[in-house]
Amino acid sequence: MSVPVFRFAPSPNGELHLGHAFSALLNLAMAAESGGRLLLRIEDIDIERSTKRFEEGIYRDLAWLGVRWETPVRRQSEHFADYAAALDELIRDDLVYPAFMSRGEVRDQIAAMERRGRRWPRDPDGVPLYPGVDRTLAPSERRRRVAAGEPFAWRLDTAAALSSLGRTLYWSEFTGEAMTASMEIEARPQDWGDVVLARRDVPTSYHLSVVVDDAVQGVSRVVRGRDLHAATGVQRLLQELLGLPVPAYFHHRLIVGADGRKLSKSFRDTGLAALREAGLTPGDVKRRLGIG
Ligand code: GLU
Repeated sequence: MSVPVFRFAPSPNGELHLGHAFSALLNLAMAAESGGRLLLRIEDIDIERSTKRFEEGIYRDLAWLGVRWETPVRRQSEHFADYAAALDELIRDDLVYPAFMSRGEVRDQIAAMERRGRRWPRDPDGVPLYPGVDRTLAPSERRRRVAAGEPFAWRLDTAAALSSLGRTLYWSEFTGEAMTASMEIEARPQDWGDVVLARRDVPTSYHLSVVVDDAVQGVSRVVRGRDLHAATGVQRLLQELLGLPVPAYFHHRLIVGADGRKLSKSFRDTGLAALREAGLTPGDVKRRLGIG
């Protein structure tokens, strides 16, 4: 039997906080428990917001916590060609379309509809779904606008993709850290509408690069926060469309702040570097996370 492969995949656009520490330590513990490997991946596709300083902070904070990972570390910004190749497959299969409406236009159109009393559907994160206007543009009109250099994003035609498969997709979700039991969860990519897979400024997207990388790196166990549970539906669909292997998932509890809300990169008091500078030890951090 092959050895399970885990990964911790932070984005270097802020400092790591207690939530990241929990996720990284859980990956480490689950990998150790199962005799698996642990990889680190730097998710820096957003090269505007990702910085070398934050990336170095990730290495420093993880090393301080006692997390060890295999090298070389995969940095997504060095692999745009891999994501472009995956996108090309979807373009060839006619499962994505160029969407010309800007984010501002989308927002205005939805606001106008809601002013007329129609509640527009939201995705699981509470963001209004893309209205899908560009999905029905005539091919000649599309070609004309692309040729004219109009900016656009590639969006997944989720309904077409699902009907091309003609069946419901599932993923295996571990029910606990011991990984002794799992359940099948129905993937519901339709809840997210036509997600963006690539933009002009960032020529890929979180969903596309994550499924490509998990496959390229042979990741078989994805351990991450519950905030990404619903998003797994989109990723499961992409895996199927691209013929990629499907890892098993464990979406762990989220570490919340004193106010009960999810931690964000702007909460200074839960940043690992700040806690270290305030004199806390890795043991103190683990105790605070309830894993000491
Ligand atoms: N890069 C993502 C984040 O920082 C995590 C992606 C994942 O684990 O799939 O939230």
